[in-house]
Amino acid sequence: MKKVYLIGAGPGDPELITLKAIRALQESEAVLYDHLINPEILRHCSDKAEFIFVGKSKGDHTLPQDEINKLIVELTSRHNTVSRLKGGDPYIFGRGGEEFEFVLNHGLDCEVIPGITSASGASTSCNIPLTHRDYASEVIFITGHKKKEGDYAGFSSLDLKRKTYVLYMAVSAVGDIMKEIMKNPENKKIPVAVVEKATLKNERVVTGLVENISDLILEKNIQPPALIILGEVVNFHDRIAGIKEKMKLRL
Ligand code: SAH
Repeated sequence: MKKVYLIGAGPGDPELITLKAIRALQESEAVLYDHLINPEILRHCSDKAEFIFVGKSKGDHTLPQDEINKLIVELTSRHNTVSRLKGGDPYIFGRGGEEFEFVLNHGLDCEVIPGITSASGASTSCNIPLTHRDYASEVIFITGHKKKEGDYAGFSSLDLKRKTYVLYMAVSAVGDIMKEIMKNPENKKIPVAVVEKATLKNERVVTGLVENISDLILEKNIQPPALIILGEVVNFHDRIAGIKEKMKLRL
């Protein structure tokens, strides 16, 4: 029977992919991938595999989602095993659910392989524990990308006490989002980190506060992909950086 894999490739570092994903890639005769995929990961595929780049970075939707769905199914007419390789985890802000359902509805066998989501990769690689007994007992993942442009009102009611928020796809809207969050003046001094290209060799971390993070993002010219982490746990990063500095170790 024909088989489709939806594979989570992890956050970027090619070593942060699962053995299960590597096995599926080795079996695949066709592989669809997008801009979040580190090209080094494609080395696990057979030389004979057909590779299809399907985009997409913000504002540059190489292929619309419904065409990606159709393409996955079409490829199974020529190949027995087709993989759709996705950044992070396929089911976290990855439209993996839509792809899975579409493939199943076409009578094909489909398996989803979990990946390390970028929130987890970014926070752990730069020493921001998403939970910590002293600071946060809840973690919330939110997208900053709204179906309706400019609709960030929901952010004004976020309760930031003892919680960590990870914002995906939020860098371009950070000014609007922080403005909403600051409608509660108590939130202005909440620490925020931005992690650019998490887990890759050129990863950058910028820390600040709700009130100044959008200026810092501009000043440091932060580019996608990047994640925004909000909450007291961000102080841990700065504390560890201080300790490391004292130990004369490079962060
Ligand atoms: N399914 C993916 C998320 C896709 S949405 C996952 O589980 O991680 C795309 C967003 O993920 C980007 O806008 C960015 O916010 C985040 N992202 C993905 N890879 C990243 C990386 N290496 N560093 C920082 N953010 C990343």
